[in-house]
This record gives sequence, C-alpha cells and structure tokens, in this order.
Amino acid sequence: MGGIKTRADVLFRNGRIYTVNRAQPWASCVAVKAGRIVAVGDEHEVQPLVGADTTVIDLAGRTAMPGIIDIHNHIMMGGQADLYELRFPSNFSISQIAGAVKEAAAKASPGAWIVGGQFGSDLLPRLNTDAAFAELDAASLGHPVLLRDDSYHNRWASGEALRIAGVTAETPNPIDGEIGRDLTSGRLTGLMVEAASGIVERALVKAGHYTPEMDRAAVARSISVLNSFGVTGFVEAASMQPILAALKGLDDRGELSAWAVCAMPIVEPGFMFGTAGEELFALRDSYRSAHVKPDYAKMFLDGVPGAKTAAFHEPYVADPVRGCCFRGNIMLTVPELIRWLGRCEKLGIAAKIHCAGDAAVTQALDAIEVVRTFNGPTTLIHHIAHASYIVPEDIPRFAELGVAADLSPIIWFPTVFLEAHKAAMGAERAQRFWPNRDLNRAGALMAGGSDWPVIPNPDPWHGIEGMVTRRNPTGDFAGSALWPEQALDLETVIDIYTINAARAAGLGHVTGSIEVGKSADLIVLDQALFDIPAERIAKTNVEMTFFEGRKVYERNS
Ligand SMILES: [Zn+2]
Repeated sequence: MGGIKTRADVLFRNGRIYTVNRAQPWASCVAVKAGRIVAVGDEHEVQPLVGADTTVIDLAGRTAMPGIIDIHNHIMMGGQADLYELRFPSNFSISQIAGAVKEAAAKASPGAWIVGGQFGSDLLPRLNTDAAFAELDAASLGHPVLLRDDSYHNRWASGEALRIAGVTAETPNPIDGEIGRDLTSGRLTGLMVEAASGIVERALVKAGHYTPEMDRAAVARSISVLNSFGVTGFVEAASMQPILAALKGLDDRGELSAWAVCAMPIVEPGFMFGTAGEELFALRDSYRSAHVKPDYAKMFLDGVPGAKTAAFHEPYVADPVRGCCFRGNIMLTVPELIRWLGRCEKLGIAAKIHCAGDAAVTQALDAIEVVRTFNGPTTLIHHIAHASYIVPEDIPRFAELGVAADLSPIIWFPTVFLEAHKAAMGAERAQRFWPNRDLNRAGALMAGGSDWPVIPNPDPWHGIEGMVTRRNPTGDFAGSALWPEQALDLETVIDIYTINAARAAGLGHVTGSIEVGKSADLIVLDQALFDIPAERIAKTNVEMTFFEGRKVYERNS
C-alpha cells in the first residue's frame, strides 16, 4: 500500500490537549511517527493516519500537554540523595538532626560516611557553636558525618569528618569560604560555609563513597523521578565528567528518557571534583549523543543570601563577624567574566551564570552587554540563575540583551529560605524576592527550574501553583503571600515551564510544545488545569509521561 509510510505509530485521541502553540492552542488528537509529531487536530484530521499497526491511546477526555522542561537541576545529587543519603526536613531542629544522625550511625558499617540533608540555612548561626558541634559529634558515634543545608552551599561535618579531611583549628579559611569557629572559644564547629564545603566533600570523594555504578544508578533514578512529575527535558546545572558519562551511558543503552542539556562548570564547583573549564569543554563532543547536549557552561558569581554570601548592592544586616557594611563577594571580576563569555561564545557555548544577589545580576548583565559590543548578535541564550533579587533598572536588560531568567528553585512563596533571607538582610528587602511579573512585563525570556536537590523533590506543580498564587502550596506558612503583585496567570506560567524553558535550553525547535515536527513529549494529567482553582494546581498528578512517543512513566493508582 502506497500510504503505509504515512501511518502513525501512536495516536492519542479523545483528549483535551493543551498544545502551548498559540496558533492552535487546543486539540483532541495527536499522531506520532518515529517519535515525532505528524498531526495535531481532531478525529477526522488524524483518521487517515491510523493503520493496523497504530497504537491508539484513548485519553478519555483527560488533559494533556507538552512535557515540562526543568531549566536547572543537579541530576546526580538528586538521585544520590534519593537512593543513598539520610533525608530529613529542613525545619528539623539541631536535636532532631542529631537524633536522625544517631539512628543512621547506629546502623552504619564501621567507618562508613553518613551523608545527608538538608538542614535549614536559618540554622547556620546556631550550628556554629561548641554546644551544637558536641551534640552532632555525640550523635555521630565516631562516624564521619557530612550534612548539607537547604541551599546546598554549606555543610555541617562531624569531628571525624573534619579529621579525615585534615581540617584543624589552624586551617586557614579558603578563598570564598569560611571554616566555622565558635565565636567565644574559637574552636571548630564543623560548619563549613561555601568554598569550605569542598574540603569535606573532597574527602568524601577520596574515600570512594560513590562508585561509577552508583553514579549511573543515581542518574537513572533521577530521570525516573523527573519523568514521574512530567519532566521530559532539563538543564543539568553543573555537569562534571561523572554526570556526563552517566548520561551518555544511559543514552547509548536507549535508557535516557529526557533531553539532557549540560552546563559544564568553568572551575570545580566546590561540591564536585575533576576536570572543568577549557579541558572539560574540549571533551564535550565525546559525551554528545542523541539526547545529551553539552552546550552550556556554568559560572558562579556569588553564593546564597541566607549565608550572606550572595552579592548585593546594599549591605546585609550588621553582625559581629562581618561588621556593618558587608555586601557579599563576587567570585569573578567583570573582566574575567567577559573573557569567559567571549571564549564560550566562540565555542558555541552559552553560559548559565549563578547570580543570587542583585549585584551579581548587575555584573553578569554588564559583562554580557560588553561581550555583545565586540561579538555582535548571537543565537546563544545566556542564563541568569537564579534571578531572584533584581534591582528595577536591571529588569528591562534581560530582554534587551536576550538573556534568559532561570527561575530556580521553585520558591516564589514564603519558605524557610525566605526566613533566612529576612534574618540576613531585613524583612523589607527579603520581601522583594522574585519580581516575576516585572520580568514578564518587560519581555524577559523566563524559564522555570527546580534546582533539585536544593528543594527535596523536583515537583514542578508546586512551582506552577506558587508562581500563580505566591503562596506556599504545602500549607507551611499558611495565610501569607510573598509579594502577591508579582503573581502570573496560569497560561504564562505554563509557557515558562514548557516552550520558554525549551527555548532557553536550546531545544525550542525540538520540544516544549505540541506541534508537527517536534518530539512527541507529552504528559497526561489527572485534572483539568485550567478549570480548577489555583490552590489545587500543586495536587496535579501526572498519569502518564511520553518521551518521543514512548511511554516512560505511568502512575499506578
Ligand atoms: Zn543549582
């Protein structure tokens, strides 16, 4: 039969399919051939494509939409945390943390590291005391313990972990980091701020705590978690060789069920070790595969507000250590940043620049503006992550310079992070967190990201609801909204999580909407998103996830 080649492999029918394509926002049917969408329309439009071998999936009136793109996650850490680490909620008190550690230590084999998290970054000052350290040490039962905070920028280590890492009272603070010492006694407290975290993380790696097999299993686990939330593409935000190798290994075996865009750090990020920068860029094509795209670089300009390591235009609240006028540090000068950006653009690599404070955002935009003057226009889209504190003058510059706002993690509502920010810089400034509406009005390309495992799971539906309501969807901090004037409508937010994120990830021609020619990345939901109150969006369950027309997740109810 002449027409056989045009028959669809898969036909989705009888759905309420939100395509995110403005020219045809809704359809009831989608036909797929060889993983690509070949028709979007109603029954009679797709009927000619149905053959004897077509698998017909009856959506039974359920809502479907394009798969979610997570613009920022740390894929291996998510899976490692899930599979191998001690988990406790970030509102745990010091004694609750000690209790959890003690329970794990009692079960651990002799000498084994206990790795876990995440403690609230609002605990940082209280952890930095002799008393707290003594409590952790007693709970550790002599094991090396390494706990991470909710920002993943800081650590709390037991005495044995410090000993193995070679940290003594005489060890000087690393550049861009601080080894915690009790303010009265001067003794070590196990608190390791920012770059100091790397000292204990490196000791953990040296101990061979994670093997390459564990790496692969962790990444595979992470991808299946992402698929279960409807995520079919992501930008891995600090792709060192073990991650690139694990992703490529999975793709070679046909087991990578998401688009993996990788951002290679220009220097060792402090929580992962090995080749970075030019040397890593030189290897990138050896990791490239059908779904693995190592086309971004990762740069860190500052730290996080809760630890007073983010760079701001105005000083933090005065404290005994930093004095009256501390505004945080910038890790790269503007000339250094310009050189890196110029070099990356030459290689066809876009930059994802970590900018947590408003001064870091300004510097990144300044550098990009300079690079534009000598490199001219580019199709590369640089990212400002996390774009959460932005001075009003910088808002229009995102669109002017073609820079994407990587909105991560998904916390545009009151959380323990915000409480830590209030303590660090005062409630009034902390309240001006995530000017999402202003960015949207100014035409910025905005993309939603989880920053998983900075948040304990990469559930985009919490982020989507929160971006609409500016309220905490979990019921924590009930009643309060964060800067509600910055709320966005659902249609805009869906764009931010699908087509806009795909564009920002360099995948706009491949995925992000349900259109002929694109990858059949489609998710089926258990509720009609546009017909429910905004306060129910976070309860959305993904019933099925399809990647290139293949079912990669199904919920068992
Ligand atoms: Zn991150």
